[in-house]
Amino acid sequence: TDATYDPAGSVPASEALFARAKAVTPGGVNSPVRAFNAVGGTPRFIREAQGAWLTDVDGNTYVDLICSWGPMLLGHAHPEVLAAVTAAVARGTSYGTPTEPEVALAEEIVRRAPVEEVRFVSSGTEATMSAIRLARGFTGRDVVIKFAGCYHGHVDALLAAAGSGLATFAVPGTPGVPASSTELTLVLPYNDRSAVEKAFAEYGDRVACLITEASPGNMGIVPPEPGFNAFLAETCRSHGALFVSDEVMTGFRASAQGQWGLDGKVEGWTPDLVTFGKVMGGGFPAAAFGGRADIMRRLSPEGPVYQAGTLSGNPIATTAGLTTLRLATDEVYAHIGAAAETVKTAVGEALTTAGVAHTIQSTGTMFSVFFTDGPVRNFDDASRTDSAAYAAFFHAMLEHRVYLPPSAYETWFLSAAHDERAVQTILDALPAAAEAAAK
Ligand code: PLP
Repeated sequence: TDATYDPAGSVPASEALFARAKAVTPGGVNSPVRAFNAVGGTPRFIREAQGAWLTDVDGNTYVDLICSWGPMLLGHAHPEVLAAVTAAVARGTSYGTPTEPEVALAEEIVRRAPVEEVRFVSSGTEATMSAIRLARGFTGRDVVIKFAGCYHGHVDALLAAAGSGLATFAVPGTPGVPASSTELTLVLPYNDRSAVEKAFAEYGDRVACLITEASPGNMGIVPPEPGFNAFLAETCRSHGALFVSDEVMTGFRASAQGQWGLDGKVEGWTPDLVTFGKVMGGGFPAAAFGGRADIMRRLSPEGPVYQAGTLSGNPIATTAGLTTLRLATDEVYAHIGAAAETVKTAVGEALTTAGVAHTIQSTGTMFSVFFTDGPVRNFDDASRTDSAAYAAFFHAMLEHRVYLPPSAYETWFLSAAHDERAVQTILDALPAAAEAAAK
């Protein structure tokens, strides 16, 4: 350790809040991964965030590599986003009527992404749930195909684990999901064309849609092999099923046009439906699903497929999202991509020097680090990650003031606010963390 090493201090205030939280909230958190169960220890309760930095309730500062699990593309408390939101709040926070910001945000999304119309909802879960309902309503079919390791939020039909055979229907992935909710879901191994062909050969005329993360980021980053998304789009098309591309994580993040900007746009294909969330809400609860106009027009009130929401298109959330997207210029993506390159290279060097098995995978500006030899093509490969090594690495980074996602299977998120000082803080922390992981 060098002379400038200034470890994060003890966290009595976080510990006290965690104890209070556990008394009134299951596990003390409102979304499970925040509880640090995968890495042990006390989650830092954050009281403030500015740019690339988090400050916990004990006054420790950390470089943020979670970025709210993706949304904070511009960094925290961006002055222009704050100004727009503050002005919007002063005009009232929700009316339950149509408003101008939701029209402008829809126009911005339609301008960037391969969709003709969008409908706003309040979470990525609602977006995928509604997209599946619409796909079923549009096609008049009932079967849904997904991939193991792809997360689409906590939709009953998608909290499914593969059945016993390759093309057999799924079983519930958690208690509380009835078998009847997953008996129309097929779960296939990712990047496996023959599994997809087999499922369509058997059930093709019953498949309403295939839903996939545009580039999976919820088992770490497992990019589609070249042409895989195009193959999925074409397979769906030839069977009269809809291709639903879940860009909740990659949308306006992997590139200005999401994962589609990296493959579909280049290869010349378009998904039938796309789900969005995270960045497009600018740190507020906003998400969307969109797609071909003839499909979207089957939605209520224009068509018969019901879908609704009290806070859908909320003026504060859509103002935050619109301001964020307008500020998300090519320079922003170039900056995040360059910072990601620097961090990836340094992580690779530090882990190699310490003799820690690892694989770094990326898509566009997004990347993740697997503590296993690669390549990682699917969920089985990702599952070989050494979680104990990651936990040691995580805590050493945290002590060195870098807040990584508290799970070995997550994407590391950077922002436009990750400047030289923030990146240098990460680089300085790496050698000791890599050594901790090697023990
Ligand atoms: N789809 C993807 C690809 C996601 O990454 C997530 C959340 O991480 C969701 C859907 C669900 O979004 P939300 O957590 O807003 O419900």
